[in-house]
Amino acid sequence: MAYDNNNVFAKILRGELPCIKVYEDEHTLAFMDIMPQIDGHTLVIPKEPAETLLDISDEAAAAVIKTTKRIAAAVDKAMQGPGVVLFQLNGAGAGQTVPHLHFHVIPTSLAELRQPHAMVQGDPEVLKANAEKIIGALNSL
Ligand code: 5GP
Repeated sequence: MAYDNNNVFAKILRGELPCIKVYEDEHTLAFMDIMPQIDGHTLVIPKEPAETLLDISDEAAAAVIKTTKRIAAAVDKAMQGPGVVLFQLNGAGAGQTVPHLHFHVIPTSLAELRQPHAMVQGDPEVLKANAEKIIGALNSL
C-alpha cells in the first residue's frame, strides 16, 4: 500500500505536530509515546517514509535499529524497570495503528505488559519528566 503522508508520525517529522523528543539524528527520531503503556514508553522511528519493516530500505532499517539499541539502553538505565520490551507491529492486521514504522521501547516485562497500548493519554508533565530522565541517561551512556 502507498505510504500515507498524512499519518501522525509523518506530521511529527515535518514539525506539523509536536512531540516530546528524546533523540534525533539524520536518519531517526525518538520521542515519548503519548499514550504510554508504562512510564518511559518511548517510540523510535526512521525518517524514511516507510509504513512497515517490510517496506524500509536496508540502510534506514540499520539506522533505526542502531537508534533503538541506544534508546533501549537509555530507557533501561533511566527508568530502572525489570528489563526492556521492544515491539514493532507490521500492518493493521497485526494491530498497527500508525502507518509509519516505529519501534516501541518499554521498560517492563512481558508479564507486566497488561494495559492495552494506545488507550490512556499520558500526563504531559510526567511524559516530559520521563523524557528528561531518558535524555540524561543517553548523555551518560
Ligand atoms: P502502533 O499501534 O501503531 O504499534 O502504535 C502506535 C503508537 O503511537 C501508540 O502506542 C500510540 O499511543 C502512539 N501515538 C499515536 N498518536 C500519537 C501522537 O500523536 N504522538 C505520540 N507521541 N504518540 C502517538
